[in-house]
Amino acid sequence: MLEATTEVIRAPRGTSLNTKGWQQEAALRMLMNNLDPDVAERPDDLVVYGGTGKAARNWECFHAIVRALKSLENDETLLIQSGKPVGILRTHEAAPRVLLANSNLVGKWSNWEHFHELERKGLMMYGQMTAGSWIYIGSQGIVQGTYETFAEAGRRHFGSLDGKFVVSAGMGGMGGAQPLAATMNGARFLGIDVDAARIEKRLASGYCDHIARTLDEALAILHAARRDGKAISVGLVANAADVLPELIRRNIVPDVLTDQTSAHDPLNGYVPNCMTLKEALGLRQHNPEEYTRQSMRTMGEHVKAMLELKHMGAVTFDYGNNIRTQAKLVGVEDAYEIPGFVPEYIRPLFCEGKGPFRWVALSGDPRDIYRTDELVLELFPEDASLHRWIELAQKRIHFQGLPARICWLGYGQRAKFGVAMNELVRKGEISAPIVIGRDHLDAGSVASPYRETEGMLDGSDAVADWPLLNALVNTAAGASWVSIHNGGGVGIGYSHHAGMVVVADGSDLAAQRLERVLTTDPGTGVLRHVDAGYEQAIQFAKNKGVRVPMRED
Ligand code: NAD
Repeated sequence: MLEATTEVIRAPRGTSLNTKGWQQEAALRMLMNNLDPDVAERPDDLVVYGGTGKAARNWECFHAIVRALKSLENDETLLIQSGKPVGILRTHEAAPRVLLANSNLVGKWSNWEHFHELERKGLMMYGQMTAGSWIYIGSQGIVQGTYETFAEAGRRHFGSLDGKFVVSAGMGGMGGAQPLAATMNGARFLGIDVDAARIEKRLASGYCDHIARTLDEALAILHAARRDGKAISVGLVANAADVLPELIRRNIVPDVLTDQTSAHDPLNGYVPNCMTLKEALGLRQHNPEEYTRQSMRTMGEHVKAMLELKHMGAVTFDYGNNIRTQAKLVGVEDAYEIPGFVPEYIRPLFCEGKGPFRWVALSGDPRDIYRTDELVLELFPEDASLHRWIELAQKRIHFQGLPARICWLGYGQRAKFGVAMNELVRKGEISAPIVIGRDHLDAGSVASPYRETEGMLDGSDAVADWPLLNALVNTAAGASWVSIHNGGGVGIGYSHHAGMVVVADGSDLAAQRLERVLTTDPGTGVLRHVDAGYEQAIQFAKNKGVRVPMRED
């Protein structure tokens, strides 16, 4: 069934195995789920999200991975090198079934030029974060993080985001969560994207309310919503670098301003202005050097306009796409006056090992996820924001591909919840195993000086030992698959990060693995922030009994 490259890929559903065990089955279903047309941005090219983030290097590799997973024994481990299956080695039952390393380059060569050269030779692929590590769950994977970030920006600057005007650009795989996250917070949202198809996809999934072809049309919808006291989102088909200067000319200042275009990749992600999208795509094909030049120039204009709107009063932050660095490279010296979203809003959560924890029902049955929703509320009755989140998610989030849920949970909470889910699988209250994973954007799994580790207290922003330790300890603890990547959301050379996935199949062994991995994983987050000197993390580690040798007598 998987021979043709144009064939639609969807994960198998139900309770029968296509492989020799649920660990392998989970990897197979999640690889395929990443390429489900309801989940992936460009499945025909194996592109899942984030510019060119791929699930496998090419179709030949994809089919070879599928074959390898189907034949993989319960004491073997499959090795994936940048989307290509390169070997199967005997390990043991509690070891990961798959280990993946994607897009990693030796420091001196760790740049887009060298990466593209290797990619052209068929030696590498871009793994982004959860694309190459098979735990992407569509826009919902990011929507709670975006929701919490917008909520925190609203709380911090206005008391709440209710009734406020939020402007951003990029309505792709991740950016497409913004309209929903904004309206869930009661805001009015304008999202600019050059590609109408991306906005239409968000309309179809219920993430965005309207599409507009001109700024006047968009503003008319937004004005009417303000008059009626409604939270509403509008996707405007245009280039952000054209629209923001026009807002300045008209003296329209957003309350909150950010950006999620694929700025991390000037060639295959960001789209330059002063040409139509079609012309841009042609230029990308025929003259990549000129395209990159135009793209960088446009990012300079884009960030200059963001800075101007910031000076005019918009609460402005960088949303993890490295656009400030690109602008600085073309001479926008004050680009870093725009703060990054992690130090602004997320780091206190990281200090307690809190991050985007997610799980997926391998059965394909939404009732399994609703049962886990009940469970998480039963386990953490005191967490008001979690309750609000689950209620909103059930009402507003359409499943894409296999039913999934995301919840920001921390150290202690994750292990408790994972083991309890395993118990429900064992008892048959959940019909098939649950896959548990997370984004690489997490407390202890990433070194990214322009994003997750920007402005660390002790200046350790670029220390990449931490994600490597995270991957090593999660492997030792028995995760189902573990990955180490370079690049992710900020581009080649700008970050190192690690992923982990662990499967709750209802067995005793799974209970042990879950308990261990869901403790070691957020544990490295707490340790990373203790080591950097964050008082909140130090107190948290003390209270929870997380051992830190340099702080023991
Ligand atoms: P994507 O490639 O799926 O979507 C990017 C969108 O930007 C596309 O729809 C494209 O048409 C649009 N675009 C490009 N240039 C534009 C321009 N000049 N004006 C208007 N629209 C333009 O990418 P994605 O998965 O949505 O990710 C977006 C960015 O956010 C990436 O750089 C990604 O690495 C980063 N990211 C951020 C987070 C986070 O937590 N904040 C997480 C993951 C990824």
